[in-house]
Amino acid sequence: MTERLYYPDSYLTTFDAQVVERLALNDSQAVVLDRSAFYPTGGGQPHDTGTLNGMPVVDVVEREEDQAPLHILASAIKPESGLGTGEQVQGVIDWPRRFDHMQQHSGQHLLSQAFVQIAKADTVGFHLSLEYSTIDLNHNAMSDVDIADAEALANQIIFEDRSIIARFVEPGEAAALPLRKAPPTKDWVRIVQVDGFDWSACGGTHVARTGEIGLIKVVRSERRGAETRITFLCGQRALAHYHMLNSLTRDLATRLTVGVEELPEAIERLQTEGRAARKERDRLCQLLLDHEAVALTSSAQVIGPASLVLKTFEAREVGEVRQLATRIASQPGHVALLGVRGAKAQLIFARSEDLSYDMRPLLQAACRMVGGGGGGGPDLAQGGGPHTDHLDGALQYALDLLTQQMENAREA
Ligand SMILES: [Zn+2]
Repeated sequence: MTERLYYPDSYLTTFDAQVVERLALNDSQAVVLDRSAFYPTGGGQPHDTGTLNGMPVVDVVEREEDQAPLHILASAIKPESGLGTGEQVQGVIDWPRRFDHMQQHSGQHLLSQAFVQIAKADTVGFHLSLEYSTIDLNHNAMSDVDIADAEALANQIIFEDRSIIARFVEPGEAAALPLRKAPPTKDWVRIVQVDGFDWSACGGTHVARTGEIGLIKVVRSERRGAETRITFLCGQRALAHYHMLNSLTRDLATRLTVGVEELPEAIERLQTEGRAARKERDRLCQLLLDHEAVALTSSAQVIGPASLVLKTFEAREVGEVRQLATRIASQPGHVALLGVRGAKAQLIFARSEDLSYDMRPLLQAACRMVGGGGGGGPDLAQGGGPHTDHLDGALQYALDLLTQQMENAREA
């Protein structure tokens, strides 16, 4: 059984131990020690990293059958590294990573207790990841005020710099403590006690005084079924987040040449201006299309009883060309056979209400020539296909078909 040196002292960063077992684990090698300060992943807290005789330890996991912490090494063990069974090793813990985990985990205990006191909400899940920590509360109607109050209470306990003590207690004593959650066993249990505030059964590493947590900031809350997930940052992470937000808002304020406090007003002004500009642009676009349609109509070729506009546009927005087609067809006696050559060939055929020619067979025949298809009504049809080089031919073919329709109509 490995003696866990982090239980009595979470500030221990170097230790001597003996290798009791060496094993292969998938593609890596691992060792079991008689004593270790390395925290193995568990209870929502990630594992420590560090070195054994200078060799990087990249992961620490508990073996299922006997809970022995397996120290997984970055590379294969060489004979000269002194990590053979029975050899003495020196372990070094990556302290910045460990202290960060201590800040987040102790902060979690404060926040969980604060949610009990403020909103009668129990923590049913805890996860500490590389960037954020989360707790899941068994309560899905958490108000912003409740969250702000719980955050304020947790920070108040930090400012009071209370002691945090972790110790093993026998079952009788554990039963008498106001534990946040009943311990999983009726055996001796490790209790983490925040003086006068919180008592929890926990195997994690914690700071000695609440002041070391520095700060707790809730950054997000989301409803998840019957629960609420609270995302929070403690200590250095909260400070880094504040630094990021501060540079971001200052940068935005500089760009808008206003003070930080005037940002909401400045953004609202920009949005209003943007809306007005878009409206004006749309109005001008419509006006341009009106003029363009008039110009196209005036150059229409007269074929039988109809005035015909036949034109190919290069890389133009199809919606716009469709608007042109309907404008042209709004004039009595007009037909528009329009094409757009872009990523693919597009065709839009339209005719005035007072004409009776069916645009659909013309369009389908033309679309077949560009390798695609289309549909619509007798007076307005649209389609396309991938063969852009056949577009002009397809339009010409549609014109021939239309001329034929006109001749047939005249004969009948
Ligand atoms: Zn804990």
